[in-house]
Amino acid sequence: LRRNPGEAEFHQAVREVFDSLAPVLRRNPQYGDAAVLERICEPERQIIFRVPWVDDSGRVQINRGFRVEYNSALGPYKGGLRFHPSVYLGIVKFLGFEQVFKNALTGMPIGGGKGGADFDPRGRSDGEVMRFCQSFMTELYRHLGEHTDVPAGDVGVGGREIGYLFGQYKRITNRYESGVLTGKGVGWGGSLVRTEATGYGTVLFAQEMLRTRGRSFDGLRVAVSGAGNVAIYAIEKAQQLGARVVAFSDSSGYVVDEAGVDLELLKAVKEVQRGRAADYVAQRPGAHLATAGRIWDVPVEVALPCATQNELDGADAKALLSHGVLAVAEGANMPTTPDGVSLLQEGGVLFAPGKAANAGGVATSALEMQQNASRDSWTFEGTEERLTEIMAGIHDRCASTADEHDGPGDYVLGANIAGFRRVADAVLALGLV
Ligand code: NDP
Repeated sequence: LRRNPGEAEFHQAVREVFDSLAPVLRRNPQYGDAAVLERICEPERQIIFRVPWVDDSGRVQINRGFRVEYNSALGPYKGGLRFHPSVYLGIVKFLGFEQVFKNALTGMPIGGGKGGADFDPRGRSDGEVMRFCQSFMTELYRHLGEHTDVPAGDVGVGGREIGYLFGQYKRITNRYESGVLTGKGVGWGGSLVRTEATGYGTVLFAQEMLRTRGRSFDGLRVAVSGAGNVAIYAIEKAQQLGARVVAFSDSSGYVVDEAGVDLELLKAVKEVQRGRAADYVAQRPGAHLATAGRIWDVPVEVALPCATQNELDGADAKALLSHGVLAVAEGANMPTTPDGVSLLQEGGVLFAPGKAANAGGVATSALEMQQNASRDSWTFEGTEERLTEIMAGIHDRCASTADEHDGPGDYVLGANIAGFRRVADAVLALGLV
């Protein structure tokens, strides 16, 4: 705490992992002797830089850019870039720390990192977004490389931004190095299924959890918070599996649509028009926008928080429990507060932490890197099949690790221990680096 003052989200993420590790440290004293925990908490490298750019009115704007290269024991640093006004070092470190364990859980050869800027893309023109991305990459490029550090998207960074970032990297380095960024367009080095992967993966993980209780998504009522990349494709997969998604949200409020979300309309509003929740409601008879209350007050059997950190708290958990929720799977990173997690687990709810449930995105990014390395592109069906296998594998790894450590059904315990052990063993094997 003294070493990282004022970084509340980072402290929360570290505490949550440490709470799970006591049994591992007791059984494996070598981790303590070699200060593995201390080494895993300290990023290998942290880069903070100025991002100057000119807005459409000719004014110079200054933002702050970050890249935290957290741990490369398992492979090149891998993790997204977030453009949002709330970004500061504590957010980037929390996301980077989570990413290390998530990437380890996938079983793939990727280390962990995260980055971003306090730039707010909302309301900015296409030209402004492009100039910002070009300036951001003009500084960041020297730290990247397909064997070094491979960023992707996150909040506020989608296909458009990855395109501008990749274009500037290519221009500065004079190299068509496809593997340096993931989340690229499918026409220029991207992977099919990457856009869908995080949302699909979250639902696939939830499906595995439901299966342990002899249930499936078929006929269940579902609420998904957010209306961004993760939320939209979580809704799509849940609907494909027979669920009725009755609510979604954005930062202006939440929408209740008892007939089931019209996904084509939602995609048109969010992906094409870049509109707000109110624009969906205006075109959808029967749906309404609530600006009071919480999305988690809507009675559902499955809740998928897919918007942002700390968006589901203790009071929300109580509301979900009162309606008999069966499962909660985190599509976002750390969307549930610690008291929310405890209440849901004590209430017997199947609870999947983000580092396990939303790992499908980064896993498919690793598949994109494989395709780039072999100058190949795979089919949608084949790639989705790989994603399905990967999510089932992560589920089983979490479940069996929880069983081994006397916590059957505790996916938080299983994810933290399984992720930690893989990273810790690699850190030990590489010596004092
Ligand atoms: P997007 O920027 O595409 O979407 C974020 C969505 O969440 C927007 O609809 C936004 O609304 C909404 N939102 C933000 N804050 C709130 C709030 N307080 N209440 C309600 N809605 C809110 O981001 P992604 O979908 O990519 O990311 C969402 C989460 O998933 C993040 O935690 C991210 O780290 C995590 N994640 C993403 C991955 C990916 O592959 N994209 C991979 C793994 C994790 P508005 O537009 O109004 O701000």
